[in-house]
Amino acid sequence: MAPGYNVSGRAPDDVIGLTLGNCVIHSLLGQGGMARVYRAKQANLDRDVAIKILPPYYAADPAFVERFKLEARALARLSHPHIVIVHDAGEEQGRLYIVMEYVAGGNLRQYMAQSMPLREVVRIIKEVADALAYAHAHGIIHRDVKPVNVLLDENKRAVLSDFGIAKVMETSAAFTRGGAGVGTPEYMSPEQCRGGAIDTRTDIYALGVMLYEMLTGHTPFEADNYTALAHSHIYETPPPPSRLNPRISPAVQAVVLKALEKDPVNRFQSAIEMAQAFEAAAAAQAPIQPGGDRRSLGPARSPVHTGPIAGSPTAGPPTVICPRCHAPNSAQQRFCSICGLPFGQAQPPLPQMAPPQPGQQPGQQPGQQPGQMGTASGAYVSCPACHALNQPLNRYCTRCGYNLLQGVSGRTCRACGVRNGAAVRFCTACGHPLMT
Ligand code: ADP
Ligand code: MG
Repeated sequence: MAPGYNVSGRAPDDVIGLTLGNCVIHSLLGQGGMARVYRAKQANLDRDVAIKILPPYYAADPAFVERFKLEARALARLSHPHIVIVHDAGEEQGRLYIVMEYVAGGNLRQYMAQSMPLREVVRIIKEVADALAYAHAHGIIHRDVKPVNVLLDENKRAVLSDFGIAKVMETSAAFTRGGAGVGTPEYMSPEQCRGGAIDTRTDIYALGVMLYEMLTGHTPFEADNYTALAHSHIYETPPPPSRLNPRISPAVQAVVLKALEKDPVNRFQSAIEMAQAFEAAAAAQAPIQPGGDRRSLGPARSPVHTGPIAGSPTAGPPTVICPRCHAPNSAQQRFCSICGLPFGQAQPPLPQMAPPQPGQQPGQQPGQQPGQMGTASGAYVSCPACHALNQPLNRYCTRCGYNLLQGVSGRTCRACGVRNGAAVRFCTACGHPLMT
């Protein structure tokens, strides 16, 4: 049965108009990894609520049912101004549901799409940190802190939600799929990626990722597959946020990087400690910025030209940061050496690969002659081990896990003859793919 359809074969939105636990369901509010959330009216109290419903195709799986019930139980233990209030939970007509307060202002992902003054970043981080500190004090680790799980009320106050994979400490009641890390790969701590023991400091790391994203418009590591992201979280140093947004002061940067330390011992030990350090660093940054916090620290979406930044640990020759994959490139380069994006032009989104057609050669795009490669903006990488086609940003083959950067050494571009350095995957002069 196709996901998205219930056992009767009807589309899941046929819950609209239905009454569950005294709530008449009106419209879809959002959908996450597991459930759908609807706006509803609780008839007996005449109030707006949000109702989260586990779709019937998950309700047939005891593991998902347990996880869903755990969310209701975890939330019921908590009462905090920055944590969503759960009113009720139950099961009716084969559907499991949680009735929550309706939070009217969308989520932080939507809010971040607008540029945000630093003052707002400080406030939201403080509010989420307060909520986390409270949950931690009540023995609950959230494990999925990220912008779509931070809701905003009509006054833009942050409300932490989605305790669907929360871990309740001191008990083994947490839902964890064996071995594999649980969470959202861009925001997962190194220890979470390893699938090992975690504690409250895993939420500090995720809060650090969220802060990084609020300041730069990017998460520290970006890739289209779990393996590459997990590898980055475990082994790679995050690019300093000031490379993406040069207005970030060394003090603010130090806070972000401390939250992102690989070893939890080196991170902030509590969410409050982190929020206070960030607030102090942000206050000290204000005089550096003419215009104060009215100037946006929002996403840097075009190539950011950075010279050496005083106090920055990355002071060095002028660099161009690729707006698509945020790799640092030399200022003279016309194409990103990691993803092949041409600089100085409109930025196309990452190419979506069509699946290889029968008879298509490895490395050949549909409609191309054998041996012909994609253009700079539409290029892809053929895995040397299994020949699967991979997106240009992949570090590991999505089919066989081969390290796509392995053994890549300096090469002369076959198209223009320019010699390129080690690990360069697209010619820095003409953008031609070097890994064929
Ligand atoms: P999942 O567990 O499937 O990730 P979430 O609880 O994160 O589900 O909800 C998915 C989306 O639904 C949220 O990003 C948000 O847009 C919306 N949503 C969730 N809870 C509420 C609520 N209480 N009020 C308003 N919108 C909500
Ligand atoms: Mg969610």
